[in-house]
Amino acid sequence: MKLVELSSAINRDYAGREVVIICNLKGAFMVTADLVRLLKIPVRIDFVSFNSYKGTESTGRVTGSLDLTEDIAGKPVILVEDIVDTGLTVTTVSQELAKLNPSEIKIFSLLYREGKYEPDYAGFAIKDGFVCGYGLDLDGSYRELRDVWRIEP
Ligand code: 5GP
Repeated sequence: MKLVELSSAINRDYAGREVVIICNLKGAFMVTADLVRLLKIPVRIDFVSFNSYKGTESTGRVTGSLDLTEDIAGKPVILVEDIVDTGLTVTTVSQELAKLNPSEIKIFSLLYREGKYEPDYAGFAIKDGFVCGYGLDLDGSYRELRDVWRIEP
């Protein structure tokens, strides 16, 4: 199982250290919940909400703001995303997080597009198409689905 594999890598990489897991809402809520239950290291959990999509298209502009309750200064951070496409969203969030001086920032993403931005902890590579379910939405719908589905145009 992919999450078991990725959580094992995180458990190994951060053995004996506390990590701040930052979930990018709303899409990453389900994968974050499943991921943290597999971690054996101490974690703190926080949330951000940055978005760039409307319908099935990127607006090319990332909106959101950091409103963390955890102090990440000097601590390792793993930013958890549902899907990384061009990498614009995670790059923008990382730049904002970096201003708070964490010791390092790694990117975890359940899905990523083959040949584009590859996250540090990379789940499933997908090709073209728009996907929904397991936290991912289409204009707010379908997040509750147990599995990830490809939307047919
Ligand atoms: P990027 O900024 O890397 O180009 O795009 C990543 C963001 O776009 C994700 O946070 C997600 O909100 C949205 N996104 C990209 N592709 C998809 C997709 O196939 N389905 C859904 N639901 N969102 C997507």
